Amino acid sequence: MDLKEWRTPTLDREAGALVARRLFFHVEKAGFYAWALLERATWEPLLNQLGAAPPEAENANQYPSGASFRLWDRYSLDACGPMLVVALRYASETLLPAADAERRSLLARAEACGDGPITLVAKFARGNWYRECIDRLQAVVKRVIEDALEEGIALPPPRRWHRFSNSRLPEKALAIAAGIGAIGRNSLVIARTTSSAPGLPLSSSAVVLGVLTLPFSFEIPPEFRHRQVMPSFSLCGTCQACISACPSGALLGKPRKNMFPSLSGELEERMPAVSGSAGFRRRLCIQHYTATAGELPSAIVQAWSNQLYGCDICLECCPHFNPDTHPVAVPGALGNGKFAAHVLATVDDEGVRALFKGTTLDQRWIEPEALRRNAALTLRKSGT
Ligand code: SF4
Ligand code: SF4
Repeated sequence: MDLKEWRTPTLDREAGALVARRLFFHVEKAGFYAWALLERATWEPLLNQLGAAPPEAENANQYPSGASFRLWDRYSLDACGPMLVVALRYASETLLPAADAERRSLLARAEACGDGPITLVAKFARGNWYRECIDRLQAVVKRVIEDALEEGIALPPPRRWHRFSNSRLPEKALAIAAGIGAIGRNSLVIARTTSSAPGLPLSSSAVVLGVLTLPFSFEIPPEFRHRQVMPSFSLCGTCQACISACPSGALLGKPRKNMFPSLSGELEERMPAVSGSAGFRRRLCIQHYTATAGELPSAIVQAWSNQLYGCDICLECCPHFNPDTHPVAVPGALGNGKFAAHVLATVDDEGVRALFKGTTLDQRWIEPEALRRNAALTLRKSGT
């Protein structure tokens, strides 16, 4: 059936409560750190006003205000009831499956640095956590459908449930609107856990975000509704560590109204944390430049240290930076993210693509030339 002909079914109150319960149960079992349901009446006006990242944006966190990209067809949003927004905690290091011998040898070659300078992939990119998030959501969908069927409720098939992570949806704004966490002064989401799994920290900014669209409508029972929205910086207290730590002065530490375009009416009243901004100046952020080839502004060259892709400095200094402490096997594992700068500085395009195939760095907008330049800059900065 064509998507345009698809009509979103509506569950009665009892069936909706059962599905919400099973959804939350399986999301927790799948190891997610935080989650919340966002009703259509909230996400629809939010998306209409925020738009999404234009195709040329480097990643989903860098959408400029005013982007008017139409989301509906791309993400099949017409056929979507509530959205489930999730946060998945990532680990600082990842494990490559033993069977992956070819990849192991590629990595070993790029890691072989002896005492030479190393160039670093940021922690969030040392495994393809976006893929992992989507895979786990897929497993959740399968189990919820099975559980519902046992209770005599026929839900739409898995292909109608769409899963996204690092998409052009404004995932950060959706997470804030769902009450999953608050924006910190480093402009990133600090999530508060929903999970009752033992030993978890109460908060963590070491998370990737994901969205699952539910292809049916139901009235979300009060106990499963999105949580209270937290204003920007509300989990920071008086801390300013990230502002001091940023080597290029990209963080202002005070809200500005340019991260998200202004919302209006009821939505603006409900979500000041979404319409406000953490005061982040992208043009001064090293991370913004790590994927794009070309000459770097002198302020960025000055601030650069050993970044190959991404920059962790304003995260690592954060008291809420609580990554998973155990190395985990996930798709696109890159171990500890350390590479010999002299090797990376000389690998040709094909070599770079082979090395990062299937990893978070395997993206159209990440130019091999940029990675070579970053490695060469690391060498230069180390005085080599
Ligand atoms: S990612 Fe790096 S350059 Fe960008 S704001 Fe954080 S510390 Fe500053
Ligand atoms: S380092 Fe401090 S100010 Fe910055 S985001 Fe973390 S808690 Fe907030």
